[in-house]
Amino acid sequence: MTRQKKLNEECGIFGVYNHPDASTLVTLGLHALQHRGQEACGINSFDGKNFFSVKRRGLVGDNFTDKKIIKQLPGHAAIGHNRYSTTGAPIVRNIQPFFADLHSGGISIAHNGNLTNAIEIREKMVKEGSIFQTTSDTETIVQLIAKSKRLKTIDKIIDAIFQIHGGYAITMLTSKKLIGIRDPYGIRPLVLGKLGDTYIFSSETCALDIIGAEYIREIENGEIVIIDKNGIESIKPFPKIDARPCVFEYIYFARPDSILKGKAVHEYRKNLGIELAKESYVEADMISPIPDSGLPAALGFANKSNIEFDMGIIRNHYVGRTFIEPTQQIRQLGVKLKHNPNKQIIKNKRIILVDDSIVRGTTSKKIVDMLYHAGAKEIHLRVSSPPIKYPDYYGIDTPNKKDLIAANLSVDEIAKQIGVKSLKFLSIEGLYKALGYKNRNNKNPQLTDHCFTGDYPVKPTDNKNLIDKNNQLSLLSNVRS
Ligand code: AMP
Repeated sequence: MTRQKKLNEECGIFGVYNHPDASTLVTLGLHALQHRGQEACGINSFDGKNFFSVKRRGLVGDNFTDKKIIKQLPGHAAIGHNRYSTTGAPIVRNIQPFFADLHSGGISIAHNGNLTNAIEIREKMVKEGSIFQTTSDTETIVQLIAKSKRLKTIDKIIDAIFQIHGGYAITMLTSKKLIGIRDPYGIRPLVLGKLGDTYIFSSETCALDIIGAEYIREIENGEIVIIDKNGIESIKPFPKIDARPCVFEYIYFARPDSILKGKAVHEYRKNLGIELAKESYVEADMISPIPDSGLPAALGFANKSNIEFDMGIIRNHYVGRTFIEPTQQIRQLGVKLKHNPNKQIIKNKRIILVDDSIVRGTTSKKIVDMLYHAGAKEIHLRVSSPPIKYPDYYGIDTPNKKDLIAANLSVDEIAKQIGVKSLKFLSIEGLYKALGYKNRNNKNPQLTDHCFTGDYPVKPTDNKNLIDKNNQLSLLSNVRS
């Protein structure tokens, strides 16, 4: 099993407690979180007696809109998961939520993020006789809960999460409780919502909006929130440390209409564009985003620089990501299928092209070639985040260092490779300013920003010890669906 060459999104999780149509609400929530993962989706429900599970490859809308499917998921409580594999192969057994019948009763788990020591734990447990059913890091958590000697389920869960490291937002369903957990740094997001007497956990607030639920608050870093028939309880079992949420939620992952720390993500992204314009203004005739991800930053850039904003590229929204996945050939066609230059608008223009990030440089190179081919006179590329020089291990899964263009080339060399007249990235200080901080606290950074700085809050144990020269997860290399 080799790691995928394509870029991986994150995952989306959603949980509902105390609603007669819990699975329908989860379906809607997952639909609103579709941007976080399109490979597969699953829902588990509990009706007071039994657990039920439906898992499918592909999009929520293609799989869960059928009434017959929802009928297979009865009950007052349910959790769901949108998957884009960050660890483990894209195989059916890896689709979440995972369910296990433990000594203490049934438990279902949905996880967004990546554990940095799952393989180490797994290797030890396999040696001791544990049998794993999947190749996903999430199963490690289930196995640790099952093995715990503690008596109460919640204590078993605490026992397990004390042993795992990395970025995780989790929702779990037992016969009595819905539980939401965020890792000690709060790297991955999780929020709490309410609809009448119904409680909800969601990766993002946009999924509360779709069902008309009220946003209550973020789950705090290192917090466990437990919901049952008696109400809601919060436990903070870890020693207190400052939160360091992932900066990429602000830059790219979260939907623009979601709220992070009290503010719409769209606003943060516009601010990133404003700071970018302050740092890297250049004379031009128009500003165009690479849609959709570059749109808010391009708006901010245009507002600040007084250069006309226009849509120089049109995106076809009906190209599913699953459609461009299967073969390398089709994937290479991907950008052309997805984006088309707005020829009459860009002809003979000096264009400032804005995107949120450059990872391997594939997207920007194809778009720039396309724009020149369509008659653009001059292209200046502006990127509303710093150069990505270091890989991620907490759930974004930006590739190996060798695939990160900024880890291997200088800014001038990247500009040459992409073929633009000039290229500028936002500075790390500009990034922090745009997100509402005075500056980056270098001793105790406010965000998880290792992609730009190499400052990893949690050491990537597995990747150091267990990935061999061919970048294969050695322990899992023979697994196929
Ligand atoms: P690349 O073509 O590899 O340079 O990727 C850059 C494009 O992918 C940008 O347009 C980003 O909006 C988007 N992007 C950045 N990070 C990710 C990620 N982890 N998963 C999927 N897309 C991403």
